[in-house]
Amino acid sequence: MDLFEYQARDMFEAHGVPVLAGEVITDPGDAAAAAERIGANSGGVVVVKAQVKTGGRGKAGGVKLAKSAEEAATAAEQILGMDIKGHTVNTVMIAQGASIAEEYYFSVLLDRANRSVLAMCSKEGGMEIEQLAVERPEALARVAVNPLTGIDAAKAREIVDAAGFTSDQDALADVIVKLWGVYQGEDATLVEVNPLVKTTDGQIIALDGKITLDENAEFRHEHHAALEDKDSTDPLEAKAKEMGLNYVKLDGQVGIIGNGAGLVMSTLDVVAYAGEQHGGVKPANFLDIGGGANAQVMANGLDVILGDEQVKAVFVNVFGGITACDEVANGIKGALEILGDSATKPLVVRLDGNNVEKGRAILDELNHPLVTQVDTMDGAADKAAELANA
Ligand code: GDP
Ligand code: MN
Repeated sequence: MDLFEYQARDMFEAHGVPVLAGEVITDPGDAAAAAERIGANSGGVVVVKAQVKTGGRGKAGGVKLAKSAEEAATAAEQILGMDIKGHTVNTVMIAQGASIAEEYYFSVLLDRANRSVLAMCSKEGGMEIEQLAVERPEALARVAVNPLTGIDAAKAREIVDAAGFTSDQDALADVIVKLWGVYQGEDATLVEVNPLVKTTDGQIIALDGKITLDENAEFRHEHHAALEDKDSTDPLEAKAKEMGLNYVKLDGQVGIIGNGAGLVMSTLDVVAYAGEQHGGVKPANFLDIGGGANAQVMANGLDVILGDEQVKAVFVNVFGGITACDEVANGIKGALEILGDSATKPLVVRLDGNNVEKGRAILDELNHPLVTQVDTMDGAADKAAELANA
């Protein structure tokens, strides 16, 4: 789960990372008072910042400096409702402005390819960091971090030195150790600060933060559930989550149900491939119903997928293992009974593995007008794509 900047800011603060005061508002009418509390009108500059889960807000006009509460109100009015890379701005943060001397970059992230953690640091932070990484990769230090030992003062100093800092090394290292505290303490997979600034009076401050939390670790962070942005969660994904289903909405027409993440992933591939011959239809979702695919689980899965208006046909791809094909076939039968008239789209079912003959016989006997059985995965993918394109 990605956090909004203001949520990252609060999390930084809780872990002792230096940040500036900030308040969020959703109504432009509240901007002036918030700006006043932050110190506009008493000589301070405030920054009005769009809260959207995408980068490049500065370039898109979503970050504006204001020298008075009135200016802040005008900026908030302009930014609220703005569209930044497809994200509508519903919230802005009004933050204390920093007097920036230099902008740096720091991040620590899960490095899946190397089964490790990676820290990245640069003296040249700010809005062009992606460009920097491509054009002058030597200016972005990359330091592997052992997840078991993490970043202590010595490791932080190694990172700071690798980035080529020749002053403020201890102050920077201190902030980096605290950012590691956020990464480890909150079970994050990414903590990024851009810019990490040095102010004209010499302080090191995290001015913009991005945090991605590991949802697999939610069970040990009760307060993380409250950070979820319910307004922008896809309603189907929210429904699936409530039912305990492992579902990801995609942008296609062929609904997919399978058992086991690996099988479902390869099902997405074969459907995308088959779709090339049928008007370019694509998989509509990832849905792994896991082991015990009983009627209720199957019904829940179908219910979510059929609720997706884009879906034109559904491919149920099951390899019977511990849960045998006859149980799955009964699950499908039961699911169609549970769903009744709300099941309206063709289902292509491919069963294989444990008790396959019994399973196929159950569906043959059912002889349901919506159900087509195909024995091979490629054949079934082709049929589902064809029906979705019909
Ligand atoms: P992003 O573009 O989405 O990454 O948004 P940032 O929060 O990083 O802001 C973009 C840029 O705005 C920063 O790189 C700074 O140059 C500038 N900026 C942000 N906050 C302040 C501030 O408090 N004072 C000043 N002077 N500039 C700021
Ligand atoms: Mn930034």
